[in-house]
Amino acid sequence: MSTAIITGGAKGIGRAIVEEFAQMGINVVINYNKSEQEAQNLKKDLTQKGNKVEIYKADVSKREEVQKLIAFAKEKFGEIDILVNNAGIDKWQLFTDITDKDWDELISCNLNSVFYMTQEVVKDMIKYKKGCIINISSIWGITGASCEVAYSVSKAGIDGLTKALAKELGPSGIRVNSIAPGAIMTDMNNDCTKEEIEEINNQIPLGRFGMPEEIAKCAKWLVEDTYTTGQIISPNGGWVI
Ligand code: NAP
Repeated sequence: MSTAIITGGAKGIGRAIVEEFAQMGINVVINYNKSEQEAQNLKKDLTQKGNKVEIYKADVSKREEVQKLIAFAKEKFGEIDILVNNAGIDKWQLFTDITDKDWDELISCNLNSVFYMTQEVVKDMIKYKKGCIINISSIWGITGASCEVAYSVSKAGIDGLTKALAKELGPSGIRVNSIAPGAIMTDMNNDCTKEEIEEINNQIPLGRFGMPEEIAKCAKWLVEDTYTTGQIISPNGGWVI
């Protein structure tokens, strides 16, 4: 039986991945930070369906909280063989307006968290010679986005980590991949006006935003696959080709 930790798993893309993995019969540890009620409701719902699910509050931008999260997951389920680094934030601002605090907050949450989580989890994966790590980056890490410099840097950093770590951990039987979604309908895009959404839809060959479930299908595929590592897979409706 496999066990997965999904950071930021109570809502949005993380939640869809939690639901997909639970359906696959994988034990799931849902990490949340602010969305306590959503995490509790999701656990209740999945547990009623017979899935093995635990929830744990941790700010994954802090090493000590990550260590407590991993210890909790190991105590509940033993070996962790799947990690999804999904937690992330975005902030739209001009490059000249970014303060040191803004920069540190975003890089800590989006990139340092991946470093902490992955380093804490791979120690055991290396021992067991088995593991699947999925990092949720973004098309903006590939192309860069105006007014999202810090976000673009954090996601490009994740993709760099994915490629380098895949080379380092391949001999230990551990696969490391990124999913770099395009525009996905979640709270992260709540600030978009109706007109902005329409404008984005017009730029996407498939003509619409993606749904969190479509990213979850990609994560499912990466878990089931056995020969893909170091890749940046981008479900984006053809927005970036
Ligand atoms: P969302 O609904 O806003 O979800 C963000 C998630 O990140 C929440 O579950 C949140 O948990 C978690 N999170 C944020 N800071 C955290 C922290 N310090 N510690 C632990 N968890 C934290 O947005 P989403 O679209 O699902 O985003 C998920 C991932 O997809 C992000 O990495 C995002 O960059 C990426 N992505 C999204 C899009 C898009 O268009 N939506 C496109 C490309 C990439 P709490 O609510 O519990 O705090």
